[in-house]
Amino acid sequence: MKVKELKPSLTIQKLQALSERVKESSGKLPLIQSDLRKFMSGYNGEKSLEYYLSFLPNDQYYVLHDVRLFNGTHFFQLDLLIISPCFVAIVEVKNMSGHLTFDGKFNQVVQTKNGEQKAFPDPMLQLQKQISQYRSWLKKNGYPEIPIHGFIVMSNPYTILTSENYEDDNLIIRPQTLVSNLQTLMNYYETHPLPHRIIKKISKQTLKNHISDHTSILLRYGLKRSDIHPGVKCPQCSFLPMDRIYKFWRCINCDFKSKDAHFTAVRDYFLLLSDTITNQQCREFLLIDCLALANRLLQSTPHLTKSGHYKSTVYTISEQINL
Ligand SMILES: [Zn+2]
Repeated sequence: MKVKELKPSLTIQKLQALSERVKESSGKLPLIQSDLRKFMSGYNGEKSLEYYLSFLPNDQYYVLHDVRLFNGTHFFQLDLLIISPCFVAIVEVKNMSGHLTFDGKFNQVVQTKNGEQKAFPDPMLQLQKQISQYRSWLKKNGYPEIPIHGFIVMSNPYTILTSENYEDDNLIIRPQTLVSNLQTLMNYYETHPLPHRIIKKISKQTLKNHISDHTSILLRYGLKRSDIHPGVKCPQCSFLPMDRIYKFWRCINCDFKSKDAHFTAVRDYFLLLSDTITNQQCREFLLIDCLALANRLLQSTPHLTKSGHYKSTVYTISEQINL
């Protein structure tokens, strides 16, 4: 059963908004675009796994994508968590291309691509850390012990995989074999299942304790507010800013007219600048002068909650949107 669906993470959404609004003069656009490509590649890798996960028996497995938990001192992130009555599997999906050599002696992955070699950290070390973090999280929350296994799924079918002195190379698998690997574990542990209500509780509490990463994206890239283009973006040609004329947003570049193009702009504001928006901040960001218009626009934007009165009125965006 899918408990937490796969969708672009908050970081991807922030990077998308940032790549469309950061000024060239900041000098950060190439880095932001390259980071966005990396995150998107990971996301696409996870997406390609969806088809295979659909073969898991619904009544035996709980599937959670992109979970971020706090262990008391640190946050830890799990790409894919699969909870069954007999074991838990943590799956790290890697969407890498070229020829990869998993080097157990030096704990690195060497990628050979277009005649060039590049070294990456060994994903198995990260996976082992995630396993121990989730194990202690379960213990801290009073759950009985359950075996936890990890797999690294290489999602690109054209990648050539080799290993050297790598003890755990049987845990590096292709998407097609994930389900059969899980079924093998199920058969192995089937004599000691946990009651279904415990498994359900674990998956529910994991979901409830998930905390999205609200680190400021501007801070991460050393950007200032003035590095961001304000305004409403044209949904047709991406021109920024659209003009507010009578009851519409109008693009002076392609003449497109929109009634609700400010929805995306308000969302970008929340992704990039702050957790709350006031009438004045709305006017500054949407580049409008009229107080009453800003009120109407904020009230028409979906998923916003209003609090306070008169001058102290602020709007927040539903956390559900950012899960
Ligand atoms: Zn346009």
